[in-house]
Amino acid sequence: MIVVIDGPAGSGKSSTARAVAGQLQIQYLDSGALYRVATLLYLKANRDHELFFELLKENKISFHFKENFFFVYLNDADVSEKIRTMEVSQNVSTVAAMPDVRAYVNNLMREVVKSDVYVADGRDLGTAVFPNAELKFYMIADLKTRAERRLAELRSKGEQVELETVMENIAQRDDIDSNRSADPLKKADDAIEIDTSALSFEEQVSSICDQIKPLIPSS
Ligand code: C5P
Repeated sequence: MIVVIDGPAGSGKSSTARAVAGQLQIQYLDSGALYRVATLLYLKANRDHELFFELLKENKISFHFKENFFFVYLNDADVSEKIRTMEVSQNVSTVAAMPDVRAYVNNLMREVVKSDVYVADGRDLGTAVFPNAELKFYMIADLKTRAERRLAELRSKGEQVELETVMENIAQRDDIDSNRSADPLKKADDAIEIDTSALSFEEQVSSICDQIKPLIPSS
């Protein structure tokens, strides 16, 4: 079973989905993190497309959700922190716009959700990856609110960065994500829209949990 939460960068989907998964004791899947791992390979290949696709074939991307944290691995190395730098953020939307990369990440996700109950967050999950998801949400928030959330996250990890830079990066990613031809960021017709600038975090988590609970199959 799969519940999806889509929305633009910084709309609060990841933290909400993580909290929902923790409360309901279900699995969490952060699709953006997988595009970010692919971006590490793109940077390793010095943005050379041919070499990048070779590296994507040769290396293994894997993940797991444990104690409220989504871990990602490149082969055996834990790259969960490495994928959150500004350099990765500045390149990830270019990588995610490549149809072959999307096919690779989508395959990985579709395989894994077959075996458990998942809440996943992304951009195109309700429209392209899991059009038959049991429940779909679409989160929005104004640009400044979203940038302030990302800024706090980056600064808490010691990255020296200004609000302006984060706002520019988010606006640019929104633009690339919404206008790419391969599975753009888009609200599914049957998704429930949540404006997170107006709700408290606890309110949005409990509202989503209440809607998911009745759908979880009893084991
Ligand atoms: O969620 P996060 O901001 O970490 O995602 C990083 C990037 O990955 C997004 O800006 C977008 O370009 C890409 N992405 C995507 N489709 C998804 C999830 C993320 O294209 N389902």
